[in-house]
Amino acid sequence: MTELPGWAHEYSGKVRELYRPIDEQAADAASPAVDRMLVVASDRVSAYDFVLEPGIPGKGELLTRLSSWWFEQLDVPNHVLSTDPVSAGGLVPDAVAGRAMVVKRLDMFPVECVVRGYLSGSGWEEYRRNGSICGVPLPVGLNDGDRLPRPIYTPAWKAPLGLHDENITYERTIELVGANAAASLRDLSLSIFARASEIAEARGVILADTKFEFGRDADGTITLGDEVLTSDSSRYWDAAAYHRGERGQSFDKQIVRDWLAANWDRSGVPPVLPQEIVERTSARYRELIGLMTGA
Ligand code: ATP
Ligand code: MG
Repeated sequence: MTELPGWAHEYSGKVRELYRPIDEQAADAASPAVDRMLVVASDRVSAYDFVLEPGIPGKGELLTRLSSWWFEQLDVPNHVLSTDPVSAGGLVPDAVAGRAMVVKRLDMFPVECVVRGYLSGSGWEEYRRNGSICGVPLPVGLNDGDRLPRPIYTPAWKAPLGLHDENITYERTIELVGANAAASLRDLSLSIFARASEIAEARGVILADTKFEFGRDADGTITLGDEVLTSDSSRYWDAAAYHRGERGQSFDKQIVRDWLAANWDRSGVPPVLPQEIVERTSARYRELIGLMTGA
C-alpha cells in the first residue's frame, strides 16, 4: 500500500484504501467543520464479495474519473472536496493523482441504497423466488433483464467487513435510520437514478441498476458519498444491443461475473482471471467512460 506524506492509512476496503490526515488534531482546531478523508481507488476487482486476482490495470483511475464526472452532473450535496493533485493546487497527493479524491468525512448510514430500473442479478434471483424484491411486489411473468414498470428502491443492510450485505425491506431501513432519514434516502436515490438514467440514455447507455451510499456531514446534511454510478456500483448496458434483443452487452464487470459463474462453484478461493477477461473488462470500462464523458 502506498505511503502518502501527510496522510495515515486507516482502512482497506475490498477496492479502496482510506486515509486520514496526520495533522487531524491541528486541522480540527483550525476548521472543526470539515473532517477530511482521502479515498484511493485501487485496480482490485471484487465479485460475489471476493477480491479477485489479478486486478484490472487502470481500473482505479477509470472509476475515479467516472465517479467525479457523475458527482459534477448531479445536483445533490456530495462529499467531494478535491480531485486535483497538490501540484495543481488541489488536495490529492501527486503519487495517487487520478485515482483518488479528498472527501468530507461523513457519518455513513448503514444502508446501501439500491435502485433498479431493470430486473437483473440478485434482484432477478429474489424475484424468481418471491415474486418481489425487498418487499416491493412486482408484476408476474417478468424475465431476467426486463425493464420494470418503474424504478424501485431495494435497500440493503451494509454488513460490516467479512459479512455479506443483506437485502432488507423499507420498513427495516426505518428501524435502522429513523423514518425521516429513511424517506430522504429513498427519495434522493430514486430522483438521482431518474436523472442519471436520462443522462445515460441520451448517450446510448441503459442504467439498469445502481447503489448509492449516503451519510450526514457535520451540519447534519444528508450527503452523497462513496463512489457514484461507477461500473463497480452499477449495471450499464448497451441500449442499441438491448433493443435489438441482445441482452448481456454490459459495460460493467458482468464479463468477470459470467466467467466466474462458468468456471467456479463459489466454494473455496476463486480462480485467477485469464488475461483475456482482464483485457475485455478494461476495454469495456474505457468504452463506457468514452460514451458517458465524451473523453
Ligand atoms: P465493497 O465496496 O467492495 O463492498 P467496502 O465497502 O468494504 O467494500 P470500499 O468500497 O473499498 O470498501 O471502501 C470504501 C469505504 O468508505 C466504504 O465502507 C464506504 O462506506 C466508506 N465511505 C465512502 N465515503 C465516505 C465518506 N465520505 N465518509 C466516510 N466513509 C465513507
Ligand atoms: Mg464499497
